Amino acid sequence: MKITNKFNVPETLVALASRDFYSKGKSDYSVTEIISPPRIQRLRRKHHEEIEQDVADMLWMLMGTALHVVAERSEIAGHTNEERLSVGIDDIMLSGAIDLQKDEEDGITITDYKFTSAWALMNDKPEWEQQQNIYKYLVERVKRRPVKGLKICALIRDWSRRDAMNKESYPQAPIQVIDIPMWTFDRTEAFIKERVEMHRASKVQADWEEELPLCSEEERWVRETKYAVKKEGRKTAIRLLDTEEEAKELLATLPPTAKGFIEIRKGEAIRCTGNFCGVAQWCSQYQSSLKEDEDE
Ligand code: SF4
Repeated sequence: MKITNKFNVPETLVALASRDFYSKGKSDYSVTEIISPPRIQRLRRKHHEEIEQDVADMLWMLMGTALHVVAERSEIAGHTNEERLSVGIDDIMLSGAIDLQKDEEDGITITDYKFTSAWALMNDKPEWEQQQNIYKYLVERVKRRPVKGLKICALIRDWSRRDAMNKESYPQAPIQVIDIPMWTFDRTEAFIKERVEMHRASKVQADWEEELPLCSEEERWVRETKYAVKKEGRKTAIRLLDTEEEAKELLATLPPTAKGFIEIRKGEAIRCTGNFCGVAQWCSQYQSSLKEDEDE
């Protein structure tokens, strides 16, 4: 990957961004790798040399690294920072680095730090649940100790005090600790095997990109189309609705003097359109969806 420095940030940050902190130890797969869509993984590997990223866009990755370094300095009895655990499943080795484990008599609580947006926190993040449950599986197998809780410590990058006061369900503080539902050991093991098989199959198909499994709606972070009922002279919508029918019904209840109208906010696949996967320009799935939109 080529790291650029378009905004002339200090060389020390560029050097830090260029270092490869990512490691999966001696394992075949890391937890991060198996929960990520195979299409993204294969395209990233194939285009590794061509992928360009500016150091300014890596701010939150750098902050994540900094947080881990700082967290490691805090030594408290019964707490383990940043531990990598590995297990064998069938014929592969799987490993994962766990941010924090709190060990008590009746079990271990696992916590993962995430820099995230307020929007992400207010919506489902299935990959958090998957990742945390695989960590639980690793702990239970390696340490032979029960896991009694899974938590995400979310650090909200774009937190706004004004939105916290005015928006329902908006996070009330820039740091939130969330409980993650726990799966059974058997469910997690079956999930791991299924994901490994998907990645294994995609390696065989790597030369035929069209054959790669498609990213699901969930994996593309699809934001559904919304219908905003608005009235002239008011900036914000009266209400934001999921269907056009609901919007029309509400519009019909407004007095004619309100000069109401419906604004369609077209849904989009945020991960593709914002190139958060880093490979959108080489992805046939995304490119063909762009073409379909053009043809419409
Ligand atoms: S562009 Fe979208 S569909 Fe293609 S790999 Fe990235 S997330 Fe998946």
